[in-house]
Amino acid sequence: MAAEFDGLVAAVTGGASGIGAAIVRALAEAGATVAVLDLDAGERDDGVLAVRTDVTDDESVRAAVDTVVTRLGGLDILVNNAGIGAQGTVADNDDAEWLRVLDVNVLGMVRTTRAALPHLRRSPAAAVVNTGSIVATAGLPQRALYTASKGAVLALTRAMAADHLPEGIRVNCVNPGTADTPWIDRLLAAAPDPEAERAALEARQPHGRLVTADEVARTVLYLASPLSRSTTGVGIAVDGGMQDLRLRPR
Ligand code: NAD
Repeated sequence: MAAEFDGLVAAVTGGASGIGAAIVRALAEAGATVAVLDLDAGERDDGVLAVRTDVTDDESVRAAVDTVVTRLGGLDILVNNAGIGAQGTVADNDDAEWLRVLDVNVLGMVRTTRAALPHLRRSPAAAVVNTGSIVATAGLPQRALYTASKGAVLALTRAMAADHLPEGIRVNCVNPGTADTPWIDRLLAAAPDPEAERAALEARQPHGRLVTADEVARTVLYLASPLSRSTTGVGIAVDGGMQDLRLRPR
């Protein structure tokens, strides 16, 4: 796949951990020049540009995109991956919590895309890939707020695809099932018996294990590459069958 990304610049929000880190690795291995835009960007010595960015802060996002373009010479691929979780029904989260999660998961991708668009318009291979979740279509319990945020990611993916197709910019999203990342480690660590909880979580997956971050990254790579040049406005599930009710273990 290397030839597909030679000379292209990619920016990945939330690229310091989990799925985002796997996307960064996959894009770099495939020949792209990559920037990580993350609250925890830190220092790097692997050729990846690290830019500390808070996607809830418009100034921070604009400055980060400017840094990418100045340092790397342009921007062809934007991966909107930064996200945070929330548990509970609609009764369980107050307005402040709703606004906090929507600010990162929905407005975060809006801010980054808005800042990136002028540069993407100049690219011959422009692609935006958003990280959604199967909750957007699966209807899982105890995730009302998170589901609303990822439903918006899927809906915005379609709206943005329609708006920007005439400018040659494709917009798609990847919808992971339960993926084995530090996010899941944090959730399991809060359980009384993390190992038993992990086993129960794996047993709830149709294919008997969690999705890997690398599996999600490979789909992002496809959606970011010219291999998918006729694909825009879609969400691809990487969930081991979880979103299909018929495949869920009873
Ligand atoms: P993670 O917690 O390992 O990584 C998330 C990254 O986002 C972190 O590096 C964090 O610093 C960054 N981030 C958070 N808030 C930010 C902000 N305001 N500005 C900039 N960066 C910020 O999580 P992950 O599991 O790799 O999740 C990545 C994406 O995948 C999220 O959008 C999440 O909703 C989605 N997702 C995860 C799963 C899963 O099971 N892990 C399933 C479906 C979807």
